[in-house]
Amino acid sequence: MQNQRTTTEWRELDAAHHLHPFTDTNSLNQQGARVITKAEGIYLYDSEGNKILDGMAGLWCVNIGYGRKDLPEVAKQQMEQLAYYNTFFKTTHPAVVELSHLLSEVAPEGFKHVFYTNSGSESVDTMIRMVRRYWDVKGKKDKKTLIGRWNGYHGSTIGGASLGGMTYMHEQGDLPIPGIVHVEQPWWYKHGKDMTPEEFGLAAAKWVEDKILEVGADKVAAFVGEPIQGAGGVIVPPSTYWPEIQRICQKYDILLVADEVICGFGRTGEWFGQQVFGFKPDIFTTAKGLSSGYQPIGAVFVNDKVATTLAAGGDFNHGFTYSGHPVAAAVAHANVKALRDEGIVDRVKNDTGPYMQKRWREVFSQFEHVDDVRGVGLIQAFTLVKNKATRELFPDFGEIGTMCRDIFFKNNLIMRACGDHIVSAPPLVISKEEIDQMLETAAKCMVEFE
Ligand code: PLP
Repeated sequence: MQNQRTTTEWRELDAAHHLHPFTDTNSLNQQGARVITKAEGIYLYDSEGNKILDGMAGLWCVNIGYGRKDLPEVAKQQMEQLAYYNTFFKTTHPAVVELSHLLSEVAPEGFKHVFYTNSGSESVDTMIRMVRRYWDVKGKKDKKTLIGRWNGYHGSTIGGASLGGMTYMHEQGDLPIPGIVHVEQPWWYKHGKDMTPEEFGLAAAKWVEDKILEVGADKVAAFVGEPIQGAGGVIVPPSTYWPEIQRICQKYDILLVADEVICGFGRTGEWFGQQVFGFKPDIFTTAKGLSSGYQPIGAVFVNDKVATTLAAGGDFNHGFTYSGHPVAAAVAHANVKALRDEGIVDRVKNDTGPYMQKRWREVFSQFEHVDDVRGVGLIQAFTLVKNKATRELFPDFGEIGTMCRDIFFKNNLIMRACGDHIVSAPPLVISKEEIDQMLETAAKCMVEFE
């Protein structure tokens, strides 16, 4: 049925009826969307026969790579056996039990409980409600405020978009909602020019302490951050940042939350980003790599302290019709098991991750308008700068990033522009040869850009 139409027909119908996320609809009326029809490994194929290297794993999510045959088989079997039942009101099913058990095995020590959602945004909203419920049960009802960071991304729901620090999202819809405040992101290159990265990590953590004191520790419920800020431009904080944040949260009795929606499930070479930076949150949110995008599912992990407190409060009046959906749970289970048992996460840590980081720096450091070349595991970025010597950024940073991204796109390589940051996060199954191929194309694009 899909293949009966021409590319032009798909484009026209799409522009006529489909409202795309984060897209200017007028631009679709002019040129139409690229129609992706199939995918295999790290490659996408479009309706015009182009083979495209997906340096973004979709939206940072297809960790296991495209075209797996086992995951659809698991979905089919589960759909035939039990297509749907809910997990409300004292019911459960084997698929969700098995997934929860497996997740308790791959999670850092102390995380034995998960709450299921359908997306990263729902995980973040669930976390906001959990954090506030936690303090409610503790009898500290005034502890409601959450501290997020400018340029953080925590999704598109009203809660997630408020907690995120994307001002262009806040401008649409009167956000943030009350009880959410922000501090500056820990981007050494821009904000720490006169300091070593280590000094800057402590200074950036101090911004959080200052905010806690400004709001009043008795009113602050949690600090929330992505271990590495993803959509904010792959901002890798200095090594001193997260341990100091942890110390500050403990000092003021504030919950520490990691949003692991991008970093989770092997992206950094560790199972979770918190393990790269050596901190222990109380709660962490996940989605994306949990199912590698083969089904929509998210999960909020809580440590024993939070789990015990929530349980002491009786009913937690929150949940989604599809929380712990059997098909999504079965597919996520097969995906996580494969990431572990096929050694995919280990390979990122010991082999392809270090290789990518070495080659990425070698290739991009040579360009005149590229600086702050960075990354961990298989998540990396560089920034387009006007003047390397003075670290001057381009004033029209959005346009410059888009211009660069479009050159990649035209050359059948998908990398993303987050303002003036060019970022990449390919499927974790990418081989060293494919890394070389990706970087060779990218380098040619950069010559064209400069
Ligand atoms: N949190 C982080 C760190 C994300 O990067 C994203 C999406 O990119 C989300 C939350 C929202 O996830 P979703 O788009 O699945 O709602």
